[in-house]
Amino acid sequence: MSDRRILIKNGFIISLDPGIGDLPRGDVLIHGDRIERVAPLIEDDGAEVVDAEGTIVIPGLIDTHLHMWQQPMRGLGADLWGMNDYISRVYPLRERFRAQDMFASTYTCAIEALGNGTTTALDFCHNVLTEDHAEEALRAHRLTGQRVVFGYGMVGYADRIERERDDRLAHVSRLHAELGDDPTALVRMGLAPGTLNFSTVKGMQIEVEHGRGLGLPMTIHQNDAGELYKIHDAGLLGPDLLPAHSNNASDHELALLARCGCSISFTTEGEFSGGRNMSVVGRADRAGVSPTLGVDGPSFVAVDMLSQLRFTFRIMHAVEAQHERAEGRWPLAHSPGIPFVTARRVLEYATVNAAKALGMERHIGSLTPGKQADLVLLRIDPYGIAAGDPANHVVLHSGVGDIDAVMVAGRFRKRDGRMVDVDVERLRALSGEIRSRLTS
Ligand SMILES: [Zn+2]
Repeated sequence: MSDRRILIKNGFIISLDPGIGDLPRGDVLIHGDRIERVAPLIEDDGAEVVDAEGTIVIPGLIDTHLHMWQQPMRGLGADLWGMNDYISRVYPLRERFRAQDMFASTYTCAIEALGNGTTTALDFCHNVLTEDHAEEALRAHRLTGQRVVFGYGMVGYADRIERERDDRLAHVSRLHAELGDDPTALVRMGLAPGTLNFSTVKGMQIEVEHGRGLGLPMTIHQNDAGELYKIHDAGLLGPDLLPAHSNNASDHELALLARCGCSISFTTEGEFSGGRNMSVVGRADRAGVSPTLGVDGPSFVAVDMLSQLRFTFRIMHAVEAQHERAEGRWPLAHSPGIPFVTARRVLEYATVNAAKALGMERHIGSLTPGKQADLVLLRIDPYGIAAGDPANHVVLHSGVGDIDAVMVAGRFRKRDGRMVDVDVERLRALSGEIRSRLTS
């Protein structure tokens, strides 16, 4: 670990640590890869001082559902009309990815995400065509400086999985042994078991039990009604298994998720584009299932978590207002618990909640001494901070153009609005070369 000390001074700090709260003018002292102190005024002669005047300092954003290999496919999902379109027109393009393309696309996506404030991502890699495809994606992750859980995909190959499952799980074990168990390591192994529309309960059980035996964070695609009952009946639900979407979850299924300590990943813009049910995020939160947020597929959604925060806030209000109107309560009036969501709560979805969903709540998700130094500086110039809760400014009045600096594990990946140690021209060429091959 580096012994370097960095002192971030005079920012508006939203720590999301209940013991620290917000500091309208505060400092963050970083030692090596960790946060050492967060306080209104810190003096440290030996530290490199970073002037954060005119910025809001927040914990790094955490994306719990991102298919990074799709970065060169940007735009190809623009005309999709529902999941069948996606499955028949966009997803099959994966077959054109060579192993080295997985390196290029994963690397490019991680850099794009980092620049947009995502310090941690769960990379749901459902394009493990060969072992080399997974190895190349991981080679990229080792170079980006982003914190990542690599969700090794068992999904998408219904015709192959029964004969390949054992070999793939053995590969997962080998990769996990290489990456190790350190919960603060930047690249950690995870598993994305096959879901029931592509697999069987028995198949899923083998995969989940394998991942659980290794202590891996796991995630599944979960769309169809009634699946959660079956997964629960098989004894597979747990805090280490994160369902993405779960749009059709009944209230009873949400209660099962809550009882098992599960979170969900709601991919707001992706749910729009799939024409899916928008009510689940609010219903889940009310039911005690911790919501988290994800970008989902870069083929149809920009790799931009700040937009997901804003969309989530608005869609939760819209769903609630629609319900009130349908019940005849119009014009809208405040009543206990309505409206439910606040900007701060949405910011927590993408930070503290997401850290918990990945089993990393002791290490990331808030600006807390002892945790990893993963943070974002958001510029509030030239118009200053918005009124009311400063989380309102982050969620409703910030865009990726305001992201001044991004730090992961005490290392700046973006500073003064520019990526650090990144050859942008090379990334453009890598991504463009793959895109032209996909569209030719
Ligand atoms: Zn997905």
